[in-house]
Amino acid sequence: MLGFRLTPEQIEIQKWAREFALREILPVAWYYDMVDDTPLPVLRKAWEAGIMNADIPREYGGKGCGLVENILITEELAAACAGLATTIFDNSLGMEPLRHSANAALKQKYFTEIARNFKLICFATSEPTMGSDVAGIRCLARREGEDYVLNGTKYWITNGGLADYLSVFATTDPAQKHGGICAFVVEKDWQGVSIGRRIPKLGQRGSNTVGIHFKDVRVPKENILAPPGEGFALAMKTFARTRPAIGAFAVGAARSAMEFAIDYAKRRQAFGTTIANFQAIQHKIADMFQKVETARLLVWKAAWEADQGMDPTIAASVSKLYASEIALEVANEALQIFAGYGYTKMFPIEKIQRDCRLFRIYEGTSEVQRIILSGYALSDYEPAMPPIEDLPIHLNRDTVNREPGTAAWRCRICGHVHYGNEPPNECPYCFFPKSAFKKV
Ligand SMILES: Cc1cc2nc3c(=O)[nH]c(=O)nc-3n(C[C@H](O)[C@H](O)[C@H](O)COP(=O)(O)OP(=O)(O)OC[C@H]3O[C@@H](n4cnc5c(N)ncnc54)[C@H](O)[C@@H]3O)c2cc1C
Repeated sequence: MLGFRLTPEQIEIQKWAREFALREILPVAWYYDMVDDTPLPVLRKAWEAGIMNADIPREYGGKGCGLVENILITEELAAACAGLATTIFDNSLGMEPLRHSANAALKQKYFTEIARNFKLICFATSEPTMGSDVAGIRCLARREGEDYVLNGTKYWITNGGLADYLSVFATTDPAQKHGGICAFVVEKDWQGVSIGRRIPKLGQRGSNTVGIHFKDVRVPKENILAPPGEGFALAMKTFARTRPAIGAFAVGAARSAMEFAIDYAKRRQAFGTTIANFQAIQHKIADMFQKVETARLLVWKAAWEADQGMDPTIAASVSKLYASEIALEVANEALQIFAGYGYTKMFPIEKIQRDCRLFRIYEGTSEVQRIILSGYALSDYEPAMPPIEDLPIHLNRDTVNREPGTAAWRCRICGHVHYGNEPPNECPYCFFPKSAFKKV
């Protein structure tokens, strides 16, 4: 059975997240964007309310929400401010490798700690010289006895300047590529961990983004998330569950751009009427509406697949790619409806547009999503249609007039079908020789 109706509990969660977003995030969003700072009190309120960490499993003292519930929450947060949504959701990203780790004691320790106390955990694969190519990690994990010693730099780390814990991906040998990737939970206070300056950004300025440097940081064996050779798969499993949330951010941001544009269109007068009466504006609104709706369905599907225990990798890429691209288009058209005012800092659209620009970049660029999707479509995807060479013969004059029992031969190059006991010496259309023909 296929259903799109949220359960009463999910509707409650959505309502609760919306109220939180309207009460705690929307009123401060533009201020923190302007001053380029992250409001710790808002993060603390999100933690106290249970909006942050909603997905910690029940066995560790969490709410045990599924991904569907988490993306309902993130859409609401991002509708109020994508930057603060990124910062609040970052704990889920930082904890995701723990969820998939085989290290039961590590899960017990950090999930429980994060559920009980206001603790932030960030996620670190990217480095100053690499982001998309996760197998190209250079941060070195040198084995010493049963422990590891980390040396290297992580970059672009959301909440890196605020977090207590870091899920860090490193390599025992860069030359081994995927084979060397491993992962650890590192504590910020450990000797040798340095936090860089806050990176100034175009948008999502309410989120904290920094570089983190490791100099001879000793990581005890108890803190291994994934041993060498298993870290790359752990990162990919993480992204398969967090990319739908990026899609949900994009839906939320696009939705509020659309809602503001609709409101503005109903009020703004031109040529003696409201601009909402112009078909050109109505078509923009129709396009925005269908894009937001479509993106949300894709995001829900990906989250649902994850909650069903299916591998959501492909649905996650589809939703992240589509939602992040339409969000920018929707914000851009909303700005067009606001026209001059859209281009000012007096109205929210310019901030939403700057915020939306990031969706196409973090957690796998649009180009990376297209690599994943084309790779799947070209290899693992199972078509329902037969190969073109084996297509049934279409009815045409030759087919109708042929002698009963005559064999049919299809030219593999141009598709011409020849009837006879033998293929022709040469195709009459494309001039390829007899060998191009296959018996149908
Ligand atoms: C604000 C912000 C927050 C972030 N937060 C985090 C975080 O918390 N943790 C973390 O680990 N990272 C984080 N990132 C990093 C982010 O994931 C990377 O920026 C992203 O993966 C792209 O990597 P890159 O910037 O190094 O670009 P590159 O990988 O250098 O790519 C440059 C360009 O080349 C394209 N490209 C690369 N390879 C290919 C290919 N094979 N085929 C076609 N095109 C290709 C890319 O799509 C892109 O257009 C954050 C980034 C930003 C900007």
